[in-house]
Amino acid sequence: MKQLIIAIDGPAASGKSTTAKLVAGRLQYLHVDTGAMYRAMTLKVIERGIDLKDVKAIATLARSTKIRLVPREGSFGVELDGTDVTERIRTPKVTSAVSAVSMIAEVRQRMVQEQRAMGKNGAIVLEGRDIGTVVFPDADLKIFMVANQRERAARRSKEMAAKGIAAEIDQLEKEIVERDTKDATRSISPLTKAQNAIVLDTTDLTIEEQVEFIVKKAKEKLK
Ligand code: C5P
Repeated sequence: MKQLIIAIDGPAASGKSTTAKLVAGRLQYLHVDTGAMYRAMTLKVIERGIDLKDVKAIATLARSTKIRLVPREGSFGVELDGTDVTERIRTPKVTSAVSAVSMIAEVRQRMVQEQRAMGKNGAIVLEGRDIGTVVFPDADLKIFMVANQRERAARRSKEMAAKGIAAEIDQLEKEIVERDTKDATRSISPLTKAQNAIVLDTTDLTIEEQVEFIVKKAKEKLK
């Protein structure tokens, strides 16, 4: 049977991760959260005390950095140079620095190379910002997931509350918009919809509906 490459792109907190994970589960495909890879690189930059404006130093560091996504039961772990950083890449500090690191050409080259290697045999759902445009422009199915920014902030707030972290929706909304603007206006691989991507607005959808929509499209491709 044909093994699809499914690309899910979209702005921050649009529901990509939750949906991609469940779609991958339904199809028994591998789920690759490419944002986690950029976050791991960013964590290393922060821990080394490198200035975010020092592009040269970050580029050099990227060349000697190994980031791996390790499948775990129902999910995945993130390894940075052999050390598990799954939890540490989700801190507000990493979130606010990640766009500056991910706009650096050498960083992107490393990550894209890794992502293409993971996806070369198909049977994979990759989510990020540039999957359908740059990483796999020939992906079998491309989804561009969107949701209004207030709703995205509300979802993020709920997620954080579940982890016991209180966060102001207004502040989260501001941060989400700032990050999207940086990601969408960078010169290399900006966040943008691939021409042939299907737009999925999740503002008023349940997670089950989102998943069902994509699984149905995937099954049509498999016919
Ligand atoms: O998906 P997530 O919000 O975890 O992504 C974190 C950041 O990683 C994004 O804001 C973006 O700067 C970067 N990213 C990227 N390209 C991808 C995935 C994520 O530049 N394919």
